[in-house]
Amino acid sequence: MGIPVIGCSCDVCCSDNARNQRMRSGCLVSVNSKKILIDAGPELRQQALAFGIDSIDALFITHAHQDHVAGLDDLRPFFFRGRGPVPCYLLRETYEDLAVRFGYIFKPGKETGTLLPKFSFEILEEDRGRIDFEGIKIKYLTFSQAGMKVNGYRFGDLAYISDIKEYPDSIFDDLAGVKTLIVSALRKEPNPIHFTVDEAVAFAEKTEAEKTWLTHIAHELDHDKTNASLPENIRMAYDGLELNFTM
Ligand SMILES: [Zn+2]
Ligand SMILES: [Zn+2]
Repeated sequence: MGIPVIGCSCDVCCSDNARNQRMRSGCLVSVNSKKILIDAGPELRQQALAFGIDSIDALFITHAHQDHVAGLDDLRPFFFRGRGPVPCYLLRETYEDLAVRFGYIFKPGKETGTLLPKFSFEILEEDRGRIDFEGIKIKYLTFSQAGMKVNGYRFGDLAYISDIKEYPDSIFDDLAGVKTLIVSALRKEPNPIHFTVDEAVAFAEKTEAEKTWLTHIAHELDHDKTNASLPENIRMAYDGLELNFTM
C-alpha cells in the first residue's frame, strides 16, 4: 500500500526515519549503459523524479497486480523522448491480464492513440529461460502467489524475486551462485500470497546468497527493529538503495 498507509497512525507510518517511508517496490538495473526497469508501480513518477531516472531501454514486468503496473501510463515521457516502442518482457498470462486492465493502451481508440505509451511486447512462453536483450543475457524464472504466475529475473550474480509464495524446487538451481538476492517479505504474520519474514529468511538461506535484501515490506515492519532481528547478511531494503553486481 505504500508507507505511510493512508489514514494510519501506527509507529512505522508516523516514524521520522526516512527508511520507514516506502514507495511500492521496483528496481532499475543498469548493464552496459542499458537501463532495464523492473515493474512500474503507482509511484513510478515520483521514483523517476526522486532517483533521476530519465530514460529506460526496456521494461520487465513481474506480474499484473496493480502495485507493479499502475504506473504504466506514467512511462509516457520516456516514449516521447525516446526512439519508438520500448521492449516489454512478460509472461503470456501477464500480457493477457494487462490487456484487460489497460484496454485503452492495448486497444487504443483514434482519439488517444498518439498519446499512449507504446511497447513492443516480448512474450516469455516458458516458465524459465533466457532473455538476450541487446547482448545482455538475463535469466528469468517463474513462481506464483495464490495461483498467479510471477516472474523473477537474474542478472549475473544478482536476482530479483518479488511477490513469491509458492515455487518449484528448480528455483534453487536457477539461483545457484547468486551473491545478491532481493526477495519480498511482507510482514511477520502469515499471508496467503506473500512470504513472511521467516519464510524469506529460510528461502534466502537455501539459496546461499551472500547478501539478501528484503523488499515489498508492509507497515508492520520497522526498518531498524526488523534489521536488529535479522541475520547479519539479511537486511531490509529501502527506497533508493543501490547495489553493485557482476554479470
Ligand atoms: Zn501504519
Ligand atoms: Zn506486489
